[in-house]
Amino acid sequence: MAEKVRVRFAPSPTGYLHVGGARSALFNYLFARHNGGEFLLRIEDTDRSRFVEGALTEIYDSLRWLGLDWDEGPGKDGGCGPYVQSERLHIYKDKAAQLIESGHAYRCFCTSERLAGVRAEQEKAGGATGYDRRCRDLSPEEIERNHKDGAPHVVRLKIPMGRTVAFEDLIRGRIEYQSDVLDDLVLIKADGFPTYHMANIVDDHEMRITHVLRGDEWIASTPRHVLLYEAFGWDAPAFAHLPVILSPDGGKLSKRKGAASVMDYKRGGFLPEALFNFLALLGWAPGGDREKMSVQEMIEAFSLEQVSPKASVLDEKKLEWMNGTYMAERPSESLAGDVTALWKERGYEAGDDYAIKVIDLLKVRSRRVTELADTSSYFFVDPAEYEEKAVKKHFNADAAGRLALISKEIEGIDDFTHANIEAVYRGWSERQQLSISSVIHPTRLAISGVSAGPGLFEMMEVIGKEKVLKRISAAIKFIGN
Ligand code: GLU
Repeated sequence: MAEKVRVRFAPSPTGYLHVGGARSALFNYLFARHNGGEFLLRIEDTDRSRFVEGALTEIYDSLRWLGLDWDEGPGKDGGCGPYVQSERLHIYKDKAAQLIESGHAYRCFCTSERLAGVRAEQEKAGGATGYDRRCRDLSPEEIERNHKDGAPHVVRLKIPMGRTVAFEDLIRGRIEYQSDVLDDLVLIKADGFPTYHMANIVDDHEMRITHVLRGDEWIASTPRHVLLYEAFGWDAPAFAHLPVILSPDGGKLSKRKGAASVMDYKRGGFLPEALFNFLALLGWAPGGDREKMSVQEMIEAFSLEQVSPKASVLDEKKLEWMNGTYMAERPSESLAGDVTALWKERGYEAGDDYAIKVIDLLKVRSRRVTELADTSSYFFVDPAEYEEKAVKKHFNADAAGRLALISKEIEGIDDFTHANIEAVYRGWSERQQLSISSVIHPTRLAISGVSAGPGLFEMMEVIGKEKVLKRISAAIKFIGN
């Protein structure tokens, strides 16, 4: 029987979870679910200098908000824990000792001054830079002497010379490197902490990871990892390097250009299911022109064969479109919590029923939850001003006359439902032999201050007769001035 698929997302708590990281997590998740495997979360926090307070909580919150629950990881022991690397230091030490013992790694006592000197020489000569492997063949006596002197040391991997190192990338095909160009990479630093490479490989092995799916910035590390697996005598997992994500203008993603954190998207009014769907399509083409898909559909369809090695562009317009379609589908009750919180910030209070009615009308025409909140002011307060362009078009003496007439009719509606309001408008326009739009546009502008919005009669019903009449009369005065 084939080995059970086990994949992991292995973030470093060096900052917030940005869309690139979230996309990696999401592909791992889809791959695991598609193959009936397991999705692990491992925290790679051995680089203490880059640790950011609060980053871990934000990573957990972001993953949970997106629905990327891990099967094994912090808080969910599956027998391979702990899942936080700083709690596993003894394991890496033991493994390094094992490699020194077997002759695949060595202690390097070179000082940082010496390394800087070597580098400067290499740069002057114009050749490649890198460690000159001076400590690779120290005699046992030299090592002993260094130890006695208390010289600090790192542990380096002895990269075999003259080899072609190859691996089969599941997205890019075969990738080859010449081992001679690879540095004898550091496995254990002078402070006793493992490097990313060491901890990553040891843990992927110990946690029985079968497939490594990660961003393509790690490709150059992979031949080193392959050699490290070999040194240990372990089978390497399969590798798949995910395509880079570019900013909307085609450049590198940066905080300013779309590299927002997952939580920024949440604050920006996006729904988790929309961001999930959108991120899944960054690099993956499910075939046909399928775009909007449920998580279940994505799980069923996901395959690395349809992941392109080509860069994908983060198209925020598409994300907004997608978010709008998800908003329209959401029961208004499930949006009410977020929306009322935004209203509160803007000083608007709404009871439950009223909130649902407003959301019902606006969710189908909003691309973000924040946009819904931003465009809903007229459900709470009288328009403070009228859209200038629309005033020119719809507010003139004739319009004022029409508004005055329709006002009279509105007064007579007892049961203020949209159907009754509509009937009144239709009857009036027939009798006047005027198009219905000649009175609809001015009414809308009078009531909302803007020229676009939900169906006028529905909107009038929700706002209520009294306010509607008051606003129409204010508009007539405004036109008169
Ligand atoms: N800790 C690495 C990162 O922050 C993980 C890379 C990998 O998946 O191997 O991206």
